[in-house]
Amino acid sequence: MKYIGAHVSAAGGVDNAPINAYQIGATAFALFTKNQRQWHAKSLEPAIIDSFHKRCEKYGFTSKQILPHDSYLINLGHPDSELLNKSRTAFLDEMQRCEQLGLTLLNFHPGSHLQQITVDACLTRIAESINITLDKTKNVVAVIENTAGQGSNLGYQFEHLATIIDQVEDKSRVGVCIDTCHAFAAGYDLRTEKACQQTFDQFDKIVGFKYLRGMHLNDAKSELASHVDRHDSLGKGNIGEIAFKYIMRDPRIDEIPMILETINPDIWAQEIAWLKQQMNK
Ligand SMILES: [Zn+2]
Ligand SMILES: [Zn+2]
Repeated sequence: MKYIGAHVSAAGGVDNAPINAYQIGATAFALFTKNQRQWHAKSLEPAIIDSFHKRCEKYGFTSKQILPHDSYLINLGHPDSELLNKSRTAFLDEMQRCEQLGLTLLNFHPGSHLQQITVDACLTRIAESINITLDKTKNVVAVIENTAGQGSNLGYQFEHLATIIDQVEDKSRVGVCIDTCHAFAAGYDLRTEKACQQTFDQFDKIVGFKYLRGMHLNDAKSELASHVDRHDSLGKGNIGEIAFKYIMRDPRIDEIPMILETINPDIWAQEIAWLKQQMNK
């Protein structure tokens, strides 16, 4: 089964997200459980949590179809110990919000070394941050997203993801989310069937499909290996339609939320319908 959706708005309350997803024909969705550009948020009200549960049930969304995304401010590999702790506290809060909502996945960007520590030291910090957070929570899987490698962001090589996973103690609660735009911008070609095959075989060899817990389906305005993160609508960018057709037919990519973060929400319903069509071809 393929679960397909988009990163929908949770404006007015997280319980609006399942409605927004249902309205575009989605069978999966992503959301922020708090304002993604602020450090602090008030805790979730019991009435909102209850309404979220009821609406997810009504519209047919189980926790494995929902991929919450954490705040963009968090850097779990921060070189400065004070700021690292600030990020770890915020990440724990994100994970606890997921627990409160009965969600079992939390998608996040690994972190940045800010040119102050080595790549390996930063990856170790990220793994430690995950270990600390998993120790204090239950059930939620930490889902590391690959990045475009913009600035000093790590996670743009599959090896980075593998190195982090290697240092996480509870392997049952760590996974990855592959963003197609980020992969392409990081240098993984997806423009032909053969390129897709090579990229996903490489992913399988280095990380392993058993760790794949979500995908972000985005075309790219940016060029191959440009390390620039610019999303585009499906089929309109430099990746093109073939990659998304390939993904929809690959049986290794099943039972996980597949989320559009494409630039025009007005055509999400069309993009979802098109993706669903590709499954049966
Ligand atoms: Zn992301
Ligand atoms: Zn993404």
